[in-house]
Amino acid sequence: MKNMLDSKCAFCQKDVQENNFAESENFLAIYNVAPILPGHSLIIPRWHVHSLMELSKQELCEMTVFARDVVKVLIKEFGHTAFNWTIQEGVEAGQTVPHLHLHLIPRKAKDLPQPGDWYPLLEQSEIELIDSDARPKLSFDEMKVIATKLKATAKEVLSQ
Ligand SMILES: [Zn+2]
Repeated sequence: MKNMLDSKCAFCQKDVQENNFAESENFLAIYNVAPILPGHSLIIPRWHVHSLMELSKQELCEMTVFARDVVKVLIKEFGHTAFNWTIQEGVEAGQTVPHLHLHLIPRKAKDLPQPGDWYPLLEQSEIELIDSDARPKLSFDEMKVIATKLKATAKEVLSQ
């Protein structure tokens, strides 16, 4: 992984990264500014990495184990035990932000009319991340409150 940030990238911004609720050596967990369902979070590399292909075996392993830890935090906080884990790897697959990100979306029965209805919502949420004309659903202050709450839960869950 190259240790570089891109000043134009939504996930390289200092205020976004500093608002993480859990961290590992190379990855951060952040709450989605346009959550499609309660608990919708993202795992991102600290650096501007476009693709899974740029990760070493060790980094890929770290990302997966860290994501599973974050899922434990989300289970504790939101109480749901079903999750969509999603990466859009490449523009053709729907990747809009060119910074690798794994969506973790807690699910429960009947949260959407059909279990598969999450994908169109996810596409809209990605547009809201990059389009300055689209209003984020959560304000910076709301994000701060959620991140602080999740950070406390992460401390509790991950120290066990
Ligand atoms: Zn970036």
